[in-house]
Amino acid sequence: VISLAAKPCIRCGRISEEKHKYCIRCGAPLVNRCTNDGGLLGEPCNKINKQNAVFCMECGTYTTFYKAGLLHSNHAGVARPVEDELRSMNHFNHPFFED
Ligand SMILES: [Zn+2]
Ligand SMILES: [Zn+2]
Repeated sequence: VISLAAKPCIRCGRISEEKHKYCIRCGAPLVNRCTNDGGLLGEPCNKINKQNAVFCMECGTYTTFYKAGLLHSNHAGVARPVEDELRSMNHFNHPFFED
């Protein structure tokens, strides 16, 4: 039985059960989560985004699908920040730095 919540794998199309976090056929993540871990000071975002989202709808950080190479964006692909740059951006957005 395929529930309404079941989603096809973005890589191979296999329908997985809702409770599955990764595709059991190809290993692709099934939940497109925000990769914003909050850095050293902030709170992790953990927002679950649509399967076609390259950026988190909540905070604009890259999603797990994009990081895993499952999605491609013309915009993100041009100048893809490295992990350290992402972290410093997160710090910069932290309320501590607002004045
Ligand atoms: Zn798959
Ligand atoms: Zn986010």
